[in-house]
Amino acid sequence: MTQGWSKREIQASLRRALRLRLRQRERVARALARLRRLLPLPHPVAVVWASTDASLYGSCERLGRGRRRRFRITLDPGQCETIAEAVDTLLHEYAHAMSWHDVPSQGDHGDAWGLAYALCYRKFWRVR
Ligand SMILES: [Zn+2]
Repeated sequence: MTQGWSKREIQASLRRALRLRLRQRERVARALARLRRLLPLPHPVAVVWASTDASLYGSCERLGRGRRRRFRITLDPGQCETIAEAVDTLLHEYAHAMSWHDVPSQGDHGDAWGLAYALCYRKFWRVR
């Protein structure tokens, strides 16, 4: 006698997990397009999905200089389990790109980031 899930149950579970991942990536891509429209930045912002070293939900990196300045937001698929967590992390990281675009990094979550995050949150969720 075997215990646990049947092969069919395991396959169905894997299909559900894959569908969630695909939906999550679609929703994040749409959310990024919406942020770019609502709060445009003078430099490109790209999102990649990859595991982060420090078990973070995500991170934001400022790359290049001058006209070649750009930002890379990394979202960790192992940490962002739901669509809501992924979108929330995107807002958090986009706020870093907003607060770092023309000044050197001034601490991770200082006043400039807090103001940028408030703007991201309110505009994205249409809070009045
Ligand atoms: Zn942060």
